[in-house]
Amino acid sequence: METGGDQTHYVKRVVLPSGKTIEVVYFKEAEVQLDEQVPVEHPPAEPHQELHVCMECYSELVYPVHWDEAGPDNWNVLLHCPNCDVYREGVFAQDTVEAFDEELDRGGDALARDYKRLMRANMADEIERFVGALHSDAILPEDF
Ligand SMILES: [Zn+2]
Repeated sequence: METGGDQTHYVKRVVLPSGKTIEVVYFKEAEVQLDEQVPVEHPPAEPHQELHVCMECYSELVYPVHWDEAGPDNWNVLLHCPNCDVYREGVFAQDTVEAFDEELDRGGDALARDYKRLMRANMADEIERFVGALHSDAILPEDF
């Protein structure tokens, strides 16, 4: 393949079944235009930031509602703050989203810990009530 200096076309020699050789000129204008536009197919990611923190009210309870891949490295994420009910959409780099994910995991762990603590507290309450009821003879064998 010969390439024209201006890159707008190239000439290709084609051998026909008859044995005759012809030169076919390929124009590359369309391609060249595409190359020049090198399209920002995907918007660039926003700077690294803590996605679990709300930009409006600084609540740390922001969670992802929806996310899509935005190119090979980035994510388009819809965020919601349950505190001030603000929705926000943005494109974030893989690292930013991973950090967010870790934060969400921590939040989930904290929630599970709180829940267990609450369960234990409730059980302790019940046991105290039960013991109190036993002592005051409010519970009799017939109750079982
Ligand atoms: Zn908020």
